[in-house]
Amino acid sequence: MTVPGDDAPLLVVEDLRKTFVDREFETPVLKGVNFALERGEMVAMLGPSGSGKSTLLTILGTLLAPSAGSLRMLDQELTRLAEEQLADFRNRYIGFIFQYHHLLPDFTALENVAFPHAGRLGRETRVGRERAAMLLERVGLADRMHYRATRLSGGQKQRVAVARALMNEPALVLADEPTGNLDRDSANQVFELMQEIQRETRTTFLISTHDEELASRCERRIRLRNGVVVRDDSTAGARRQPPPALQPSAPGGSEARS
Ligand code: ADP
Ligand code: MG
Repeated sequence: MTVPGDDAPLLVVEDLRKTFVDREFETPVLKGVNFALERGEMVAMLGPSGSGKSTLLTILGTLLAPSAGSLRMLDQELTRLAEEQLADFRNRYIGFIFQYHHLLPDFTALENVAFPHAGRLGRETRVGRERAAMLLERVGLADRMHYRATRLSGGQKQRVAVARALMNEPALVLADEPTGNLDRDSANQVFELMQEIQRETRTTFLISTHDEELASRCERRIRLRNGVVVRDDSTAGARRQPPPALQPSAPGGSEARS
């Protein structure tokens, strides 16, 4: 998609903090998170259970307010927007994929996918249904379009969830352990599907996962531990360095491969 200021990062997170407070406890969960996402990146977020991945994704998705820090996306400081503006921003620019698909069980695959678009416009449209059908075809479910969500397998449901996340042509897709509930083959399929779509559309994907193997296939990995980023290794950063021919040759270097 084309958006203003195309060369700036899509998203910049600075010293983001979240402490859950209730009557008895204060639970600090995010303790100063910093990173930026470039447009069109596919980034894995890794971290042990309880490290704050879901909390961070929920805040990035503007579904939860941080306690402190800055969250800028598409040159807007989201922490300053009122709830109504946030809802518009979220509907327009952000797609979600959850571990447990969150499909409406009594609705068909097509209705589930068309829903975010209808919600945004306040009504269903033919254009919306056509786009939903196109997306379901894209995720390999043309023949399951009119099945109710309850009649689909785990992998199929998650592919519907991928289609639904893409319905409004988001700039950013946030996926919280999208393959966590799937067997190996289905997890692979759903992951590869997201990767293909990311390459075709240059949509930015941030995917939390426990799966090191799938994470290793992403362009970049952000590791979270105890509410801070402990490592951020970017293959894209490596690509920005001079090509091997211009670097001092290392033992068994580029000559050996050519
Ligand atoms: P992850 O997704 O990495 O497993 P979470 O973001 O779900 O981590 O949780 C991080 C920590 O925040 C956990 O210790 C969890 O108990 C705590 N937490 C999450 N939500 C709440 C909440 N609403 N109130 C209090 N603590 C919470
Ligand atoms: Mg989680």
